[in-house]
Amino acid sequence: MKILTIVGARPQFIKAATVSRVISKSTTCSEVMVHTGQHFDANMSDVFFQELDIPEPAYNLGVGGGTHGQNTGRMLEAIETVMLKERPDVTLVYGDTDSTLAGALAAAKIHVPVVHVEAGLRSFNKRMPEEINRQLTDHISSLLLTPNNVAVENLAKEGIAGPRVRNVGDVMYDAALFFGEKAERTSRILERLDLASKGFVLATVHRQENTDDVKRLGTILDGFARMARPVVLPLHPRTKQRIASFGLQVPGNVQIVEPLGYIDMVMLEKHASLVATDSGGVQKEAYFHGVPCLTLRDETEWVELVQLGWNTLLSPGAGDFLDKVGVLPAPGVPGASPYGNGNAADLVIDAIVDAFR
Ligand code: UDP
Repeated sequence: MKILTIVGARPQFIKAATVSRVISKSTTCSEVMVHTGQHFDANMSDVFFQELDIPEPAYNLGVGGGTHGQNTGRMLEAIETVMLKERPDVTLVYGDTDSTLAGALAAAKIHVPVVHVEAGLRSFNKRMPEEINRQLTDHISSLLLTPNNVAVENLAKEGIAGPRVRNVGDVMYDAALFFGEKAERTSRILERLDLASKGFVLATVHRQENTDDVKRLGTILDGFARMARPVVLPLHPRTKQRIASFGLQVPGNVQIVEPLGYIDMVMLEKHASLVATDSGGVQKEAYFHGVPCLTLRDETEWVELVQLGWNTLLSPGAGDFLDKVGVLPAPGVPGASPYGNGNAADLVIDAIVDAFR
């Protein structure tokens, strides 16, 4: 069975790494990897292919750097061309980026079944480009593979249920287990940045609602100043660009570093005393590694982590943000396992083979 995988952005490389490893050992499935080019910098793309042993993409479409409409449109056209040539049995898309939507749309229109990994997530905030991408992708997918029960319930409320929905668990949990152990053995990032284990905050900021609003981005930086310990900020290219163009000051306790490879990132997550982020993936990774997380957003898709006490939502738009941001949240309830058993990637391939053989 020929699987055409579409990736394009950093979190998709990490998700695809787990499933590609399973496909490479499979006797029934083969994979053609297509990179849309949405993320193209060496430290946002190449490093993941090298570190995580992801197969070299058979196609790199070189579409990136445009607006959402430009990117999605150009990807759609280029992906369709690849699909008409490759004639895959299924298309595999991950998450919620413009690459996800373009891949799903191109496939569905030419009747190639779409498999969506990380289906069913919802923020219920349609101002987020990711929410549009994931809703539309879910509604044109043939097989919807969810990371948790909340996602299954979200899909059921939209009339998507039955055998085409399978709760396989979260492939990012597989990655955290597999690469977490490797990070402890091989990463030297704590020494390189001169950080003491549990003596720093790890922060990431890249969501459009935070980066494109000067007031919110400024408030987040002011918040970091209140954290009374070093804050390590691997800086996303969009955030870097906005800080410069808005002329914002970075507080003295914030150590800015270039975007990190996944192994170093995991090492910092494991040894941080707190994670402060607006990333979807990083919220869960904090939980996987037993670190409290402050989510710098108005809402989250990963509501179970808030219920379990591992995630505290704090909106940078809220009047009391600066009063609350310095308070270190306590760890949540240990032992819950909302994201499966760390074998989600195997279950993804089992589900694809079952559904389309
Ligand atoms: N990540 C990384 N290096 C960094 C920042 C993030 O490897 O400098 C990883 C992070 O560990 C997680 C993924 O990138 O696995 C999350 O991607 P991102 O925050 O860009 O997207 P989101 O999860 O919000 O869609």
